[in-house]
Amino acid sequence: MTDYYSTYDLKHVINASGKMTILGVSKVPEAAIQAQQFGDTHFFEMKDLTDKTGDFIAKKLGTEGALVVNSASAGIAEAVAGIIGQGSKYHAYHPFPPRYTKREIILPKGHNVDYGTPEEVMIELGGGQVVEAGYANMCTPEHVEMMINENTAAIFYVKSHHAVQKSMLTIQEALEVAHKHELPLILDAAAEEDLKKYVDMGVDVVLFSGAKAIEGPASGLVFGKERTSAGPSCRVWASVAR
Ligand SMILES: *Cc1c(COP(=O)(O)O)cnc(C)c1O
Repeated sequence: MTDYYSTYDLKHVINASGKMTILGVSKVPEAAIQAQQFGDTHFFEMKDLTDKTGDFIAKKLGTEGALVVNSASAGIAEAVAGIIGQGSKYHAYHPFPPRYTKREIILPKGHNVDYGTPEEVMIELGGGQVVEAGYANMCTPEHVEMMINENTAAIFYVKSHHAVQKSMLTIQEALEVAHKHELPLILDAAAEEDLKKYVDMGVDVVLFSGAKAIEGPASGLVFGKERTSAGPSCRVWASVAR
């Protein structure tokens, strides 16, 4: 096998830190390498591939829809665009005014972290306008609730060691505020391990990184409900890709 450390004169690394983005995150197991090799050496109708792999994953997770995307970062932008664009196949790629004015995404201030890219950059790439709630060191359900207005599209929560941990509302509390106002909750759980936990809690849209705890190649996973408590006007991401 080619020694790419030599080819490119790269430093050898012994990883004693864990799954770190700056070190190339995780090692991909043999089954994933084989699946990727199969993909790399065959052709597919891409819509068929995304629809059916999504359905397969959704069924395993016990949720309505799932979509494999290029990264969790891409998933943030796509989830936001899907909600702002109200699930429209044709408009969600340009989820901006004047067509879409309801595009405020409420994010606890202590969750607006830089995980390699700031959360707000990916939310805004998806057409969202970040509205921070609370303070750098605290955010209560009331802080989130007071930022809701007629232009609010969703509430966004970051479950991560990067985020402020103390004096922050819980996922359950964020979910209660969101559903009380018929808004979807988007959860960035990029580096978490339990894929089913948040779906079981009732979170509307969940984002995972494929490369972190779940040890896949560079990829992301978006999954959850196709419709939220807000009804057809909040048809989310899954329908966007179809
Ligand atoms: C790593 C990370 C991401 C991005 O994941 P990628 O798959 O590398 O794009 C997003 N959010 C959080 C909280 C992360 O830790």
